[in-house]
Amino acid sequence: MSQSWDARADAHSFYGFTDLPTIHDRGTVVLTHGHGPYVVDVNGRQYLDANSGLWNMVAGFDHPALTQAAQAQFARFPGYHAFFGRMSDQTVMLSEKLIEVSPFERGKVFYTNSGSEANDTMVKMLWMLGISEGAPQRKKIITRKNGYHGVTVVSASMTGKPYNSVFGLPLDGFIHLTCPHYWREGQDGETEAAFTTRLAAELEDVIAREGADTIAAFFAEPVIGAGGVIPSPDGYFQAVQPILKKHGIPLIADEVICGFGRTGSVWGCQTYDFIPDAIISSKALTAGYFPMGAVILGPDLSDRLQHAADMMEEFPHGFTASGHPVGCAIALKSIELILEGGLLEQAQALIPRFEAGLEALSHNSNIGEWRGKGLMGALEAVADKASKTPFDGSLSVSERIANTCTDHGLICRPLGQSIVLCPPFIMTTAQMDEMFEKLEASLKKVFAEVT
Ligand SMILES: *Cc1c(COP(=O)(O)O)cnc(C)c1O
Repeated sequence: MSQSWDARADAHSFYGFTDLPTIHDRGTVVLTHGHGPYVVDVNGRQYLDANSGLWNMVAGFDHPALTQAAQAQFARFPGYHAFFGRMSDQTVMLSEKLIEVSPFERGKVFYTNSGSEANDTMVKMLWMLGISEGAPQRKKIITRKNGYHGVTVVSASMTGKPYNSVFGLPLDGFIHLTCPHYWREGQDGETEAAFTTRLAAELEDVIAREGADTIAAFFAEPVIGAGGVIPSPDGYFQAVQPILKKHGIPLIADEVICGFGRTGSVWGCQTYDFIPDAIISSKALTAGYFPMGAVILGPDLSDRLQHAADMMEEFPHGFTASGHPVGCAIALKSIELILEGGLLEQAQALIPRFEAGLEALSHNSNIGEWRGKGLMGALEAVADKASKTPFDGSLSVSERIANTCTDHGLICRPLGQSIVLCPPFIMTTAQMDEMFEKLEASLKKVFAEVT
């Protein structure tokens, strides 16, 4: 093959979520393997991946316990489904484990191949529940602007991002509330507590306007991830949950990023001290070593859905690879590593240093704020700090910062005008210092060019 990897990638791969002018300019980074938090490209160049892949590779790229669990299960039973009253032993064990480590005293689990499918599945479950409980109009879904819930037709409709208009989405009946980002959305002189109160009042108003009996659920990420790393404002879930409860509207926690330690507790809902009606899990569920998502139902939804399914004698839903034995074996090992093998403690121990690094960089006159929770954080670039004025979009400031980082051997993600960091739990303090040093050098270089 005389062509470069780059040209070969471009010739036959259709890129998703990729800035195409950047690719045409800089080419594709084609990777062959990784070790610890580093990935290596076809030219042997090494990059510190400050995003854990896509938020998910919390144990790094070559954890022996995970690859061994996968290899052993591939050798033992490399694939099976979970239809027609059959499922693998690994699937049974993972469901037991997920309920055990969930905040629910009991419940049930349904498997998918991704977070998007898990959100889709949850919505289908709720729609089925409405029909079976004599309330077929109970179909509307409430989420927040900048909330990210996936890319299937339903989960993209839930996602509060303007780019979905290229598909003619959202579908009808998907309602997006104000983004709970205090720094950007808070009004002059408004305290964080008053901001939360305003968001809760907006929810009340929307429920009143739409009719409580038309709303199937409220979905929220404990920390908005792909919408820019936006932690919930003070008291947010404590303000919102009673309103939902009063109207009988389930609160679904989309914990696809937060789940399994990212925010410093096993679940984001534990970090924010609330118990949802169901949890959507994926990403770190298998430490990124296998595509898998899960709907984890708490007691009330689990009982009602089981009843609805019993009435029909079947829940007519499932994916060919739902509950895949290799994915389940990997998830069991990953959960063991995080909860019993010290990975959660490792993540917790890194948080103060992570926050201090973000805080230090936020003193730059072109950083408007740093924000984050646990081991997920963002730095937002601004042209003017006092007025929070963003840079002109045509300058592509965050893309330039991320590209400069790549040149320095650091992968981090531009998101709007922010730079997102989401390091793996196995990162050492020395590697964290390397991450911040490279990012600081890149910020300085790009800000000097654009100011
Ligand atoms: C990534 C993500 C999803 C979608 O998961 P996929 O596996 O990419 O389909 C859903 N919700 C949240 C919060 C996510 O971060």
